[in-house]
This record gives sequence, C-alpha cells and structure tokens, in this order.
Amino acid sequence: AVGLAACNKPAEEPKDAQKADAGKPAASAGGLIGIAIPETHVERWPGDAAFMKKELEAKGYKVEVASADGDQSKQNKQIEDFITKGAKVIIVGSVSEAAAQAVESAKKAGIQVIAYDRLITGTDAYDYYVTFDNYKVGTIQGEAIKAALDLDKAKGKNITLFSGAATDNNARFFYDGAWDVLKPYVASGALKACGPAPDGSKDAAWPKTTTEGWVAEKAKARMETLLTGDCKAVQLDAVLSPNDTLARAIIGALEQDGKYKTLPFVTGQDGELLSVKWIIEGKQGMTVFKDTRNLAKAAAEVADSLVKGGKPALSGKHKEDTTTYNTGKKVVTSYLLEPVGVNKANATKEMVESGFYTADQVAKGT
Ligand code: BGC
Repeated sequence: AVGLAACNKPAEEPKDAQKADAGKPAASAGGLIGIAIPETHVERWPGDAAFMKKELEAKGYKVEVASADGDQSKQNKQIEDFITKGAKVIIVGSVSEAAAQAVESAKKAGIQVIAYDRLITGTDAYDYYVTFDNYKVGTIQGEAIKAALDLDKAKGKNITLFSGAATDNNARFFYDGAWDVLKPYVASGALKACGPAPDGSKDAAWPKTTTEGWVAEKAKARMETLLTGDCKAVQLDAVLSPNDTLARAIIGALEQDGKYKTLPFVTGQDGELLSVKWIIEGKQGMTVFKDTRNLAKAAAEVADSLVKGGKPALSGKHKEDTTTYNTGKKVVTSYLLEPVGVNKANATKEMVESGFYTADQVAKGT
C-alpha cells in the first residue's frame, strides 16, 4: 500500500529516492520543484509530501520537501530558500495567511506558486489552487451527525462544536458546511448546542470554537473545560470535530469523564490510521477520507503544466471552480477533488480495498 509507506516512513523516503536517482542521471532534468508543507503533527502531511515527490520525480523533476512545523516565519524562510535555489515551481501547503509575503517574492523572481490544500489568502501573486471540496467535507460531517442522531425524528439531542485553526482558510469551510446541515435542527428543537454555536462563519463567536494550530492538546483541554462548564449539565450525543487528530483528543477527554459509558458520536476527517481502527471498533463515529494520492497527482500535473508553459489539464476526477476561493485580492482557479464519508460500514472498502492502508495496519492502528 502506497499510503503505508508514505505515512509511516516519511523519514526514509529521501534515502530511497537518492538511491533511485543514482541509477538514473536524467531524473532531475526538469529542474527543481520545492514542496512546503505546514506541519507534521497531523498524520497526512508527510504522506502528501511523499506522494508528490514520487509523482514529480516520475515526471523528471528534482524535489525538495520542507516542513514548517506550524511556524509561518519558518515556512517563509523555506520558500525563500527554494527561490534562491531557482525552483521552477513551489507547491505550498501554507501555515497561515502570512505566507502571502513569500509567495510575492516568488512571483518577483518569476517562480509560480501552487496553493496546496489550503488557500493562501491576502495575495494575488499566484493563479492555481488544488484542494478537496472543503465545504463538502463539512456537509458530510453534518449529514453523518444528522443520521446518527436521527434528527428528523429526535428531540433535544445535545451537541458541542469544534473547528480547526482560525489561521487556516479551510477551517471555516468545514465548519460552515457542517453547521448549514445542523442549524435547522437547532431551530426545530431537535438539537441543542452547549458551548459556543456561532451562526455561520461571519459570526463573531466563531473563533471561540477554533483550535489553535490544529493541536490535539488544545482540543482536549477545551473539551475538558466544556465538560466541567457549559456542557456539564447535559449528556452529549455528538461532538462536531473537524479532523481525526482533534477527534481522538476529544474522545480522550470524554473517556476521562466518568459520565460517558456510551461515547457521543464524534466526527473526524483525513482517515488517519488510528481513527479508522476506532471507527471500526465504534469508538469514533466517522471520518472524511480525502485520498491524498489523488491530490498529490493533481498538484504534480499542475506543476508540470506550469513549467511547460501551459494551462493545467488534470487527468483525474475533479471540479474546476473559478468562483469560490477568493484570496481577498483575487479569485483563484481551484481544482476540487471529492471527499468521501467513511463509517463502520464502508471503512474497509474505502481505506483498505482502495489500497491506502493494509488490513494489518488498520488492525494495529499504527
Ligand atoms: C486540512 C486537513 C487537516 C488540517 C490539519 C486542513 O487544512 O485540509 O486535512 O486535518 O488542515 O492539518
């Protein structure tokens, strides 16, 4: 399984790649492509980098990967470094809006940047964005809660809401997608939220649901505070969690709270290995699988077309969106891949039969 190799052994990837390069002198003839990823504490990112590296090397490029460890100034230095080395294209999974500055210096140096997974806001210095349909990720989470709690028939079910990093443009899309599904049930009395329940992304209360830097410990601490505060008097039926890393932290806090013999339905995203195991065991409700092998392939195809001077033509299934993603300075042409909801019933089909993980990995959860 490609997912296995990329996710579990990212550190070994460069060595293998160098070995492979040694026998193929022409392999880097296409020039350098720099890949900047935001962090490694969320499992998917080293995998994304490894998949992109593989795709780009197969197209004859030399590839360098840098992780910012959640630090935007570190990422800006890494991008500047790619510029100095004369990269042909730089693919950026940004930490935050402040990536704009480095993207602008790339443009001045004649280097094109591709925004990867996260929109880079506050600049018009790039043209293309490859991602998944982020709003749909949220609606899949909302629909899963609706089905699990049978909201069309239920009354007075309890939920609390979490969202991702306020500095990540995706976080609002995820939240809005989910809340647009759930909000009507609050109005009808089927659902009640304890803790902040902002009415859409423009609401000033939205930041109160966010999780700084997508850090698990922050979500766990916030869940503990809710359990002894705003959500103390109720029995929670569901928790909206934006991704798997945070879902497992939230579940950890719920398990510590003696009150929960049966855990609430907790949502997730990314199809992380341990979460898939927990979904099969019934401990986590669901996840949204975004097949990053396909996103990496799309990014590599866009990069290759830009180097060759053409308009990107993507081979895989995607939607081209020229209206949704506004950086604040321009609307960027976006290629949206399709996310897939995964629960107990289809976990094996989506996560194992697709070749992303082996059955053995899922059984072990590592
Ligand atoms: C990505 C998610 C990821 C999160 C934290 C988001 O921008 O789309 O897949 O879980 O960042 O890294």
